[in-house]
Amino acid sequence: MQSLINHLNQLQDLVLTRDEHRQTGDGSHLDSLNDSIDELVEKLPPDVRSHWQLLSKRDHVVMSPMYNGSCSVCGMRLPIAQVQAVRMCKTLQNCPSCTRILFEENDAPQWIGERPSRNAPRKSGVSRFSAPSLMIPALKATNGAEAITELAQLMEEMKFISRSDRLIQNALEREAILSTAMENGIAFPHVRGVEGGGLTFALGISKEGIPFDEDGTIVNIIFLITIPSAVSAFYLRLMSMLTETFIKEQHRQALLASENQDQLWKALTKATRYCIK
Ligand SMILES: [Zn+2]
Repeated sequence: MQSLINHLNQLQDLVLTRDEHRQTGDGSHLDSLNDSIDELVEKLPPDVRSHWQLLSKRDHVVMSPMYNGSCSVCGMRLPIAQVQAVRMCKTLQNCPSCTRILFEENDAPQWIGERPSRNAPRKSGVSRFSAPSLMIPALKATNGAEAITELAQLMEEMKFISRSDRLIQNALEREAILSTAMENGIAFPHVRGVEGGGLTFALGISKEGIPFDEDGTIVNIIFLITIPSAVSAFYLRLMSMLTETFIKEQHRQALLASENQDQLWKALTKATRYCIK
């Protein structure tokens, strides 16, 4: 059963990568992504395949990690017997509410940030997703994998995310499907299924630029993003908003000119003040 779950998760990653590529990429990898998806769908047992097809017509997020005994996509608290069944992993379990396929990932990175107190004013703009302590104005990294490592370790050190080792591994696995480096020297490495809090990102800058992927795409601006399953769709919107903002040369230059965390945070806040409310 675990191998079926792995197979389904692999399929899920490909489907969501294709959505990203449709929204922010140039479409050049659509054919190969479609082929890989068709191949994996074809290999599913017939009953699972029809269930997959039914679910994915409604929403492209079909797989839902169980977190704290709940379905992390719809939030439904699962009956104890089902929590145990998901843990045992002997039969395929569906959420009783949203019918997504449930699975458990024991060593997944988790969001461990400080929850805002009830009286605190609601955060606005980019501070909903990041913080000055998650800015690296001068990355030491000399390639994409090192940059992801540096940013992930900072997220753990600053107590936003646990298990940076897994975070790095998952981000690199996602990069292996399709590089997240874009035109204009920006990359959006990311990991889904980081439950426990909100979408969070760290930002690293390399003034000289570093080769980010196998093709040697040079990147200066790297957002490492952790995404709870429930906001998978919002992540695509955020990525579009950031892409649109940093298409503008002046906004990129402001990030690159920052000399410390404070300046970088201010430049990011200023550049995104109209697109992220
Ligand atoms: Zn659910």
